[in-house]
Amino acid sequence: QAKLTGKNRFHLFNPERDQQTIQKHQQLDEIKQALSNNEFALYYQPKINMKTGKVFGAEALIRWFHPEKGLIPPLDFLPIIEGTELENQIGDWVINQALKQIVEWQKQGIFMEVSVNIASYHLLSAEFLTLLESALASHPSLNAKYLQLEILESSALGDLNTIRNILDTCRDVFGVNIALDDFGTGYSSLTHLKNLPANTIKIDQNFVKNMLDDPDDYAIIKGVLALADSFNREVIAEGVETTEHGLMLLAMGCYAAQGYGIARPMPAADIPNWLHNYIPNQQWLDSGLNKDN
Ligand code: C2E
Ligand code: MG
Ligand code: MG
Ligand code: MG
Repeated sequence: QAKLTGKNRFHLFNPERDQQTIQKHQQLDEIKQALSNNEFALYYQPKINMKTGKVFGAEALIRWFHPEKGLIPPLDFLPIIEGTELENQIGDWVINQALKQIVEWQKQGIFMEVSVNIASYHLLSAEFLTLLESALASHPSLNAKYLQLEILESSALGDLNTIRNILDTCRDVFGVNIALDDFGTGYSSLTHLKNLPANTIKIDQNFVKNMLDDPDDYAIIKGVLALADSFNREVIAEGVETTEHGLMLLAMGCYAAQGYGIARPMPAADIPNWLHNYIPNQQWLDSGLNKDN
């Protein structure tokens, strides 16, 4: 039946599946429209060093403002475009938008490392490096180190050599930084850690969320920190929602953090004000003082 073509394919008519196919096409069309109608925006979530209180960066997170349905979160529409050309187009939009924002902030004296999430299909697409290169080239005065690519560690990254070559170019030729996102949730975290040129490991928020109650999650974070140390990688903890989370991470030697307990993702325009009003968590600062340096 693999050979059925043309006319014969109609024998495979399956109302339910065809309905799904039609629906998927409609959704893809709608998302394509949304891109040309400028309905997407990047929100930014600050990243801080809990020990010093300093804000050093922000993660760009896509939002869809649908004219009728309102705000649609990324996990409600990104899976629909997964593995399609549209995923590359949106990914390219995200990179260009983030670069514009970095430059805009730098004009205002705000220097932050901005990380963008990169879908593995996009990363592996033939034109990824060319598009990234030209995106960077349109901001010649920008030091590329202010851009970080977050690679989802849990995604099927495909051929490790291919991906390593792409990331090597990003890092060594273009000068952008690389982070392994949601580290520890994938099938081959250690292989990725060993083989991919990532500067930073992002500890998945589920480990952080559970570490206070679950000794296993605590142990996993401990282990990741030790690994990061031996591999000479930076670490940032995601999902820091409370002062307790931060204190426990600090006690383990993990200083960089991101989470609702610091700030929720916000529109780019809110960042300068947020920075202006930002007050570091005193308990985190104090706990830092008790450490060796
Ligand atoms: P992620 O990259 O792991 O991003 C972290 C997610 O956790 C974000 O959800 C963020 O809003 C949320 N978060 C941050 N701090 C906390 C916290 O303290 N508690 C809780 N419960 N959640 C927290 P968001 O924005 O809904 O994004 C979800 C995922 O969608 C992202 O996970 C990322 O994988 C993907 N994504 C978002 N924007 C983009 C994008 O521009 N491109 C691609 N390819 N993927 C994106
Ligand atoms: Mg991320
Ligand atoms: Mg993450
Ligand atoms: Mg995630």
